[in-house]
Amino acid sequence: MKARHEYVLCAGAIDTPRLLLLSGIGPAADLAALGIETRIDVPGVGENLLDHPESLILWEASRPIPPMSAMDSDAGLFVRREPGAARPDLMFHLYQIPFTFNTERLGYDVPEHGFGMTPNVPRPRSTGRLTLADARPETKPLLDFRYFTDPDGYDERTIVDGLRLAREVAATEPFASWIAREIAPGPALRSDEDLSAYGRAAHHTVYHPAGTCRMGSATDELAVVDPELRLRGAPNVRIADASIFPLMPSVNPMVTVLMIGERAADLISADLTGRREQTAQQSQQTARQSEQTARQSEQTARKRGQGSRE
Ligand SMILES: Cc1cc2nc3c(=O)[nH]c(=O)nc-3n(C[C@H](O)[C@H](O)[C@H](O)COP(=O)(O)OP(=O)(O)OC[C@H]3O[C@@H](n4cnc5c(N)ncnc54)[C@H](O)[C@@H]3O)c2cc1C
Repeated sequence: MKARHEYVLCAGAIDTPRLLLLSGIGPAADLAALGIETRIDVPGVGENLLDHPESLILWEASRPIPPMSAMDSDAGLFVRREPGAARPDLMFHLYQIPFTFNTERLGYDVPEHGFGMTPNVPRPRSTGRLTLADARPETKPLLDFRYFTDPDGYDERTIVDGLRLAREVAATEPFASWIAREIAPGPALRSDEDLSAYGRAAHHTVYHPAGTCRMGSATDELAVVDPELRLRGAPNVRIADASIFPLMPSVNPMVTVLMIGERAADLISADLTGRREQTAQQSQQTARQSEQTARQSEQTARKRGQGSRE
């Protein structure tokens, strides 16, 4: 398959870097170790793996929750911990069902009627890495999210603050009168250390992988695409999916992905229009040059004719 103008890669934050790596576009040393011939050495492919990790606080409900929910998680909550912060730095989904996959695994009760809140890190600072296990296309890639590993402990602190804040919110109406008891982490866990250990053990992904082909400037060594979405070293390839996020957006990522698609369409269209204009200008210039050459030839021929008559 050969494109006339350019290629647009949009296989998502897992498969886009996987396809690049299998094609020999990625960190040269890693590719060599897998026996893949390096076509373009792009160190950032597969780096900067991002996600929104979230934990859970779970209550048993004092009575059955009426089936009035549209999607079992109808409310969200954004909080600015720092009053002067430019944007919210803590987010919750509010579940009207007992969301117990991880808490059950940790030995907590599964209530018949329950609800929960899920403190979530909107701007996580921990970054992971996607690599290939081998050079076979059918082998699944390796994902190491390295959740809660940022050196300053920002992500961990966000979850601890979130669990505490959820308790405060739930102690007020309309939640308070619906609570029979707190199941997880359970009222006995109150210290930062305990809440952190529980919060990290119970955390789950929100399925927002991103960032593995991040956008950046020419001086960013780990940038995979430039601000016009062009692949470093192969400007006739653009990437348009969640893999280009340099940072996680604070909200769920779908809207940003759609905006990337719109932007890609605008950039491609502008380029094609520009190319058409350029081609038209070149054709006009060539035509003018041909006319000029023809006129010069005519003049020369005329002069020669005059010379021979003289
Ligand atoms: C269970 C779940 C729930 C989610 N809920 C929400 C939500 O409520 N709100 C929100 O904002 N986000 C949500 N997300 C996240 C959101 O869906 C993703 O962030 C978004 O879809 C990413 O878009 P993308 O274009 O990067 O990748 P994708 O949407 O994954 O698109 C990539 C496409 O490429 C195709 N593909 C891959 N490899 C190849 C190949 N080799 N050849 C051809 N095609 C290929 C895939 O089949 C896929 O169709 C959810 C995700 C999951 C999994």
